[in-house]
Amino acid sequence: MTEPTPEQIRAALIRLDLAVARIDQRIDSIEGALDDAAGGDPSTTAPRGSKFPNVYDWVEQWFVRVYARHKMTGVHWCPYWWEHAEAVVVLTALWRSWESMRRERDTGMVKWLTYFAYPLTRELWDGSGTFRGCSSNAHAEPPSLPYVSVPDGKRQEVFDVS
Ligand SMILES: [Zn+2]
Repeated sequence: MTEPTPEQIRAALIRLDLAVARIDQRIDSIEGALDDAAGGDPSTTAPRGSKFPNVYDWVEQWFVRVYARHKMTGVHWCPYWWEHAEAVVVLTALWRSWESMRRERDTGMVKWLTYFAYPLTRELWDGSGTFRGCSSNAHAEPPSLPYVSVPDGKRQEVFDVS
């Protein structure tokens, strides 16, 4: 029996890495289904194998330390971020995706940053975003969008056009 060449070893490691990534995705899928079946608040119900137990700990112990941009021009942040429903929803989505993608050791974080973190944090920090009226030491409750309750009979009208 001959020894494998370095190229063969590299190819085998790549195949192994891909197989591990596929297994991780299947585990995440199963864990997601189990979490869904268990119900509960997604901001406080951690996916199995999570590093942080909830979004609040993730934001305080990881996010605010890594994304220390609050003094940059055009970046709006609120120390009472948990008072902003939109921020809780967005940061919960970021936390849960971070927990899942951090397990993809080679490309998970770059995917998370590119497709989730940078686009969503730009939305949060934007001058027209949920933190627009807040400062580094004061919170201003963002107003809800105005709406008029849909009259009876109108709710199905759009779907009954065909
Ligand atoms: Zn605020």
